Amino acid sequence: MSTFLAKVSSPQMDPRNHLVRPTIVVSRCLGFQRCRYDGRLIYSELVCFLKPYVRYIYVCPEMSIGLGVPREPVKIIEKNNSYHMIQTTTGLDLTYKMNTFAEHFLGNLLHHGIDGFIFKSRSPSCGIYDTKIHMSSGDICFGYGLFAKLAMEYFPKLPIEDELRLRNKFHCQRFLGRLFKRVINIV
Ligand code: SF4
Repeated sequence: MSTFLAKVSSPQMDPRNHLVRPTIVVSRCLGFQRCRYDGRLIYSELVCFLKPYVRYIYVCPEMSIGLGVPREPVKIIEKNNSYHMIQTTTGLDLTYKMNTFAEHFLGNLLHHGIDGFIFKSRSPSCGIYDTKIHMSSGDICFGYGLFAKLAMEYFPKLPIEDELRLRNKFHCQRFLGRLFKRVINIV
């Protein structure tokens, strides 16, 4: 990965060349704040590498709906074909709070020239492919976190990835290509 990222840092991506920087919405726990339920910070090589080349808007949806750190973890549970965010130890249903926050936050972003998203994988809020969904049948499926699902609906044409998939060279190249192409086309 390091070799690949070194190749990506061409003079055209050097901020000293005044290239307009893409704006990326990023999960706050990816190196910006210890906001996970267990207080851990997650390191992403790509998120760290991109800092001089992009403008980050970071968000922690769970803290934004009032959950503290540390906190009891939440899960996505399917009931009657709809998905609920439940804090299992307290039984609290946070679905309405999370969806309301996401609609407000993402709605505001519609007017701010966002170019892409990097989310934390597996999260009930931020996961984009691999969040555990606890089905009423007792099965486990994998899908989206509530916040990320709405982000994909609000911004269907933008590159949206998670930090785990971005460790893969193919996904990383495709994400960066789409991201910087947007900026180059706008300039
Ligand atoms: S995955 Fe999302 S909700 Fe969870 S701590 Fe990170 S930013 Fe917050």
